[in-house]
Amino acid sequence: GSEVSLTDFRNIRLHQVCFGYPKMDTYVLEDINLEIEAGKSYLIVGLNGSGKTTLIKVLSGLYEPSRGKILVDGVDIRAFSKNSYRGNFAVVFQDFIHYPMSVEDNIKFGKYEHKEHTARMYRAAEQSGAAKFIHKLPDAYQTQLQNEWSDGTEISVGQWQKLAITRAFFADAPITIMDEPTASLDPVAENEFYMGIEELIRSRTCIMISHRFTTAKLVDQIIVIDNHRIRECGSFEELMCSNGKFKELFTLQAEKYNLGDVVNEAKLSTH
Ligand code: ADP
Repeated sequence: GSEVSLTDFRNIRLHQVCFGYPKMDTYVLEDINLEIEAGKSYLIVGLNGSGKTTLIKVLSGLYEPSRGKILVDGVDIRAFSKNSYRGNFAVVFQDFIHYPMSVEDNIKFGKYEHKEHTARMYRAAEQSGAAKFIHKLPDAYQTQLQNEWSDGTEISVGQWQKLAITRAFFADAPITIMDEPTASLDPVAENEFYMGIEELIRSRTCIMISHRFTTAKLVDQIIVIDNHRIRECGSFEELMCSNGKFKELFTLQAEKYNLGDVVNEAKLSTH
């Protein structure tokens, strides 16, 4: 296949995509129709096991659809080489740290050692707020490892999260995907994390997966996966107005995490 760079794509469309893992007789994704538009931000929500991670793996070309097709500006991605398509996605997982490398090396992981990379890495660290601790020595990680990331170590959980953000800025791919970047954080720290990536969310095509809804109001579109299908898709206001699954899940969660203000605000904005 030919090379493809998505630096100026308009949209990626999933057209009636189904996906099943080998040796399983049911699909994990069924009849997915979805459009990802350049420059917009998306949040994929849904219960555990509903198919969120599988969806981003199919979208980013890691798995091929069992049925249906994926089109970039109308061109089937099977026309492109797999690696060149995948290279357009920066996927940031929550547990990306490869200790005992230094902070710097963790961010640059997988990239060539190059002056230009180092300069870009510092810029990314400035943006994310990680610049202050970028020079921490590898032995800090050893300590961290022994203490199982407990309090009192040199690098806090919040700082590790900032590294995740730095890495996303640094990767600078046309599409940034974050799969549960805050799974280990409490709601307060999680909120801080998302405040840190507001710029990233607003400035590029960004897809996030979360089983929490902290970012729901930041993104352009929320995609609700339920029972392997897209159940709802729309902006926060649209989904709160439509009284469907999103509103049900959001309200439950708001009560659980005591996000009363958020819900009241949402209620007001729907009237
Ligand atoms: P989510 O991200 O919403 O938690 P996943 O996409 O990880 O959901 O998983 C969807 C379903 O696919 C689950 O039932 C899960 O058990 C199954 N699954 C995930 N990965 C594999 C795999 N490698 N092989 C077989 N089944 C899998």
